[in-house]
Amino acid sequence: MYLHEYQAKRLLNDYGIPTPPGFPAFSVKEALNMARELGGNRWVVKAQVHAGGRGKAGGVKLVDSIAAVEQTAQALLGKRLVTPQTGAAGKPVSALLIEAPSEIQRELYLGAVVDRARARIVFMGAAEGGMEIEELAARDANAIRRVVVDPIVGLQPFQARQMAFALGLKGEQVSQLTRIMQGLARLVCQKDALLVEINPLIVTGQGSLLALDAKITLDDNALFRHPETDSLRDPSQEDPRELTARQFGLNYISLGGNIGCMVNGAGLAMATMDLIKLHGGEPANFLDVGGGATADKVAQAFKLILSDERVRAILVNIFGGIMRCDVIAEGIISAVKEVGLELPVVVRLEGTNVELGKQMLAQSGLKLIAAEGLTDAAVKAVAAAQGRL
Ligand code: GDP
Ligand code: MN
Repeated sequence: MYLHEYQAKRLLNDYGIPTPPGFPAFSVKEALNMARELGGNRWVVKAQVHAGGRGKAGGVKLVDSIAAVEQTAQALLGKRLVTPQTGAAGKPVSALLIEAPSEIQRELYLGAVVDRARARIVFMGAAEGGMEIEELAARDANAIRRVVVDPIVGLQPFQARQMAFALGLKGEQVSQLTRIMQGLARLVCQKDALLVEINPLIVTGQGSLLALDAKITLDDNALFRHPETDSLRDPSQEDPRELTARQFGLNYISLGGNIGCMVNGAGLAMATMDLIKLHGGEPANFLDVGGGATADKVAQAFKLILSDERVRAILVNIFGGIMRCDVIAEGIISAVKEVGLELPVVVRLEGTNVELGKQMLAQSGLKLIAAEGLTDAAVKAVAAAQGRL
């Protein structure tokens, strides 16, 4: 689960990490009130979307009058912001962050991630912040300094000092960075975060460190331990199909391609996507309907795939173990009855009640393309999506 910048900054504050004074605003009127509340004569107006790259996309504006706060808020709120990270559709702007401006001496990068390969929290720091870390890594891998946290002893102050020196920090800044990194390490553990990124971490005009931007990703699998984070979810930023899928307890992830996949078992679903790509196609989604799905859940899953307007063909790949093939057939038939079917559907069924399942599909009158085995299924799905079948 992604947090908005304003939510992430509150969390940083809870862990003793300084951020510029600021307030979220959900309407133009609120934006004006917050700007007045902050005082001064310059403000930063920041679009709150679950994506970075806002600066380049016009989502971060420095303004120097209340009238300009109003204009900027009006221009951003209710619109979609397209950044290099959002895809062409962009993300809706339903909140702004109004901040007091900061004077920037230097922009640094500081991030903490859970490194799955090492099974450790790893800090990454770079003296060149502001830009995307991926770009920096591609240009100069040595520009990124890594510190690996031992889970038994935790982050050691000497490790933070090493990072501080690598970032070119001096004097009081070294102990400031140590406190920031210790706060981040606690935050990552206590909130089950997968990633916390401060980009840029700035050296202000006065020479102290300040988190100018903040990005936090929480581990979805650990959310049940953090009911306090429920209220931080913003459904407007999420893929509508993924939201629906979650309501039905389906494992669905939207991808960019045009072959809808309905598979049982995460491993088989991954293998199915691999095969589609191997044979020159692109999957539209990952979908694992699970082992104990009912016909109703299967129908929901099928409707979900059909609701994706990019989909040109559907590949149903079921190995019935706990899941019975007749339940899959029943679900598909009832979904198609409800919403119709214009697309070619390639079906590969094996396992429990396979004959019954095949018979039900054959008698349903649906135009299905039968496949034998995984390769045949993938080849036929790719051909169908390209209109060659
Ligand atoms: P992102 O583009 O989505 O990562 O948004 P950021 O919050 O990182 O802002 C982008 C850039 O805007 C930063 O790297 C800064 O250069 C600039 N910026 C943001 N806030 C301030 C501010 O208070 N003062 C100044 N001078 N620049 C700012
Ligand atoms: Mn940023």
